[in-house]
Amino acid sequence: MADLLIVGGTVVTAERSMVADVAIGDGRIVEVGEHLADGNGRTPTLDAGGLLVLPGCVDVHTHTRLPSETEPDRFFQDSVAAAHGGTTTFLAFNNPGTGISDEGSRSLLAGMREFRARTDGESAVDFGLSAVISGQQDDPIAELPELIASGVPTAKAFMVYDFRLTDDRLFEALRTMGRHGGMLEVHCENATVIDALVTDAVARGNVSCRHHALTRPTYAEAEATHRAIALARAADASVYIVHLSCADALAEVAAAKARGWPAYAETCPHYLTLTDERYDAADEAEVIRSVISPPLRSESDRGALWLGLRAGGLDLVATDHVPDRLAVEKRCPAPPFPQISNGAPGIETLLSIVYSEGVAGGRISLERLVDLLATTPAKLFGMGTKGAIEVGRDADLVLFDPQASRTISQSNLHHTGDFTPYEGRAVRGAVRSVLLRGEVIVRDGVFSGRRGAGNFLERMATA
Ligand code: MN
Ligand code: MN
Repeated sequence: MADLLIVGGTVVTAERSMVADVAIGDGRIVEVGEHLADGNGRTPTLDAGGLLVLPGCVDVHTHTRLPSETEPDRFFQDSVAAAHGGTTTFLAFNNPGTGISDEGSRSLLAGMREFRARTDGESAVDFGLSAVISGQQDDPIAELPELIASGVPTAKAFMVYDFRLTDDRLFEALRTMGRHGGMLEVHCENATVIDALVTDAVARGNVSCRHHALTRPTYAEAEATHRAIALARAADASVYIVHLSCADALAEVAAAKARGWPAYAETCPHYLTLTDERYDAADEAEVIRSVISPPLRSESDRGALWLGLRAGGLDLVATDHVPDRLAVEKRCPAPPFPQISNGAPGIETLLSIVYSEGVAGGRISLERLVDLLATTPAKLFGMGTKGAIEVGRDADLVLFDPQASRTISQSNLHHTGDFTPYEGRAVRGAVRSVLLRGEVIVRDGVFSGRRGAGNFLERMATA
């Protein structure tokens, strides 16, 4: 017996699209097929005529902020933004910039417990944690097995920044993850090269925002990507390359895949739509919005990433959402570039951007969009109830109008950053309604969910 029927929409999976009804019972999908209405009209229905019915997006890379005494709504509000954008599950990191305490950042397990306590009852959509392994923690590698067993089977390590892991520690982390079924996510940039370029730039007085990009060349990313993959191979472990931004790094991942190695990679909406032209703007307050790592790349890199999404060198798209505010975290007017918080908001615009540029733009199919934004992220990150419209899965659904047109603007978004990299951008398609485990949490563009309705997901080790 169904509690709700979605009728007359075009249901899209990673394999096919078909006009079908979706029956929901106890928060799960119980049937997908034609003419499921019972005839007596007793089961409530939601009309999806003319709309696409997509699985809710699964965004595996966000830096949502923990709630604090002075900003108690930040985690909740970004989860509302996710809902508006058609994302029903997100993974957050608990790195220091997100508001984790000093104690929580010294140990993986303490950090996990603090994250769970402080986000309990906060989120409007389902969510999970991906831990951050830092060179400043006491003994994070020893804590990995218990972390994985506690439902956090992924963690991010950095090859740059002062909290990076040295190669020997990175190798140990990969080996431990591999032995216990976890998956290490790696931020790949060559620290030796970048630190030298930054030191030189600062010594010459080249401290404006555009020098952030000039000191992080594509070869530094490609070399580190190669090294992370080589270390993973030696450690007999899978590896996941975060925020891959350029053709040369993509070639490294594609070469590993061609050899049958378990190397995976994500790219982000900004690398698929924006280029390093943004660093040419005369106004520093404009350029500072694009201070992200890796930086925006060339038009030819952008083209290569779309080809990678089509051909499979890239596995998924995630946002790397950082809800920075210009005058607060970004410290506008611009300080010297090494002191600027890296990142830009994006939790709410994932589906909009990838649908408009990718599907409406003729670069990828609708089925590939579903694969990239829902099915593969759920599978790779151990969320077996998420990511597909299939009997038994959670009824996390997006009713999406492919004919609509809208303009993205900070004034019509809900996230806690105070700008969007896509200001003024016209996009095709619009999210109409969103369901989380069968409950309508966005109805005709209006949030109808509630704080705390989202569950923390204890994920499965998958590697
Ligand atoms: Mn990163
Ligand atoms: Mn990140």
